[in-house]
Amino acid sequence: MALIRQESIDAVLEACDMTEIVAPYTTIRKSGSTYKGKCPFHSEKTPSFTIDPVRKLYHCFGCGEGGNVFRFIEAKEGLSFGEAVKWLADKYGVRLEYEQSSPQQEERRRLRERAFSLLDQAASFYTRTLWESPRAAAAREYLRQRGFSEEVIRRFRLGFSPAGGKELLEKAKAKGYRQEELVRAGLAGERDGRAYDRFRGRLMFPFTDHRGRVLGFGARVLDDSKPKYLNSPDSDIYHKSDLVFGLGNARQASIGEDRIYIVEGYTDVLALCQAGINNAVASMGTALTESQLKEVSRYTGNVYLAFDADVAGQKAMMRAQELSRRLAIEVKLVRMPPGSDPAELVVSGGGRERFLKLADDALALLEYQVQAALAAADLESAEGRVKAFGALKPILANAVNAVERDEQSRLIADRLRLSPENVAYLLESGARVGTAPDAGGTGRRVLSHDEITERSFLSVCLAQTGEAGRYLQDMTESYFTTAANRSAFNWVRERIGGIQSGSGSDMTSLPPEDPAQAVMPELIIRSETEPYSPQALPELFLRLSAAELLRRIDSLKSSLGDGDDEKDRFRELARLEEKRRRILEHIQSGDFSDT
Ligand SMILES: [Zn+2]
Repeated sequence: MALIRQESIDAVLEACDMTEIVAPYTTIRKSGSTYKGKCPFHSEKTPSFTIDPVRKLYHCFGCGEGGNVFRFIEAKEGLSFGEAVKWLADKYGVRLEYEQSSPQQEERRRLRERAFSLLDQAASFYTRTLWESPRAAAAREYLRQRGFSEEVIRRFRLGFSPAGGKELLEKAKAKGYRQEELVRAGLAGERDGRAYDRFRGRLMFPFTDHRGRVLGFGARVLDDSKPKYLNSPDSDIYHKSDLVFGLGNARQASIGEDRIYIVEGYTDVLALCQAGINNAVASMGTALTESQLKEVSRYTGNVYLAFDADVAGQKAMMRAQELSRRLAIEVKLVRMPPGSDPAELVVSGGGRERFLKLADDALALLEYQVQAALAAADLESAEGRVKAFGALKPILANAVNAVERDEQSRLIADRLRLSPENVAYLLESGARVGTAPDAGGTGRRVLSHDEITERSFLSVCLAQTGEAGRYLQDMTESYFTTAANRSAFNWVRERIGGIQSGSGSDMTSLPPEDPAQAVMPELIIRSETEPYSPQALPELFLRLSAAELLRRIDSLKSSLGDGDDEKDRFRELARLEEKRRRILEHIQSGDFSDT
């Protein structure tokens, strides 16, 4: 992917109108220098969603979601940063320029574009054949018998590959594609230098990416010939292990409903779509990969697996849990009735409601695994209980959520006839206990008291730049407890040096992956809208100093008792505690005139 030039990004930012961009998602009203409306990211009764039309920033004081105009489009349209820039460039007619690339890179890009176009035309050719050719009558009949509507079949661009073995090849060659391009795109095979259509006499399911571009095909026979399923081979464009089927269709609905279903087969996706459930994709096999989960987690943090749990097995569940912990998403398991898949379930009468009911009853992965391990254990004998505990320990150690883990620990204690204290002790001895990442994009974390103070302080600094300099210069990153706040502190400190306001481009100079992106919009919007008193800055500074001292005191305390400079450390401890006591007294006095 060629990089978009910074000048082009600035030009797009310059061209776009934040109020116009937000308008389709929520109604906003002018309120002072900002606009306010109901938040398009969470449901609320009173408006706490605020936009700054000049800097092109937004922030919700209700759910904490915020960013610049690019991030807004990323979140609402489910796009990457580069794609969001392109989306806005198209809307406002800005021509994008890319960083200079080498002739080889240019050539690769050209070939890739040709491959995409070839695959798309192949999909259209298969579709035409399915609907128009007498040779596809059996395929049409098969789909009719499975109960699929024409609308759904067309939406997923299903097709039929003629059995002759040359039709696609000849059509594509007539359009100027070379044999090797067809081979490389996985559409043709070669034997003794002669090429033939790879897919012959099969029902064709195009595999697309989240933008709906065709990457490859899955193909199914209609008779008993082998293999029953044939997929495109892996290529530059198509990687089987990354792909989820149906994401182009499911993207919007998954963002809207903040939930996505992962099913096993592509006919399950079609059936759910026909039943009006659009937020479903297929993993095409039960071995869910990290890249597949990552792909869907761009749209929602709530992933529901609608697999046949017995088939998927414990090992796959453990893996899914490990991945969900790493990606900070929540994975739940929809328990399908034994031997049935979503397709069968929804095609029968009232299937939609039954499926949604099962989804509402979905178990968190942890709970599911604990139940399964307990069900498999012999809890009557002491030996069996010890064995069960051995199986449960790694499951609990992998838990994402502490509340959930404690709840399951109590259940286990009860079933294994152990005291809760003993279970807690056994779990902690040597167990690795998972914690959620510091600045996960999905799922709201509750902010700690320190974090709130840190953010308030930084936004006051932005509001009172004249005063803030002398506080900032004495501070270090150790005053801030999260990566996002530390990064924001550095940004604020640099900015206060040569303050200039009114330009939104500062935000784009922060790289999209900079942790400060998560807090800057909030800081800037609060600095403009909250009525801070002159006391706020010194008071917040003192509070941060006291918190920082407390952290140093705690760490010093926990290091006592190992080392021979014990005396010095006690003296240092006393000094820090005295300093902190004086700061706390100062805060209590409420007089900040001399700070
Ligand atoms: Zn909100």
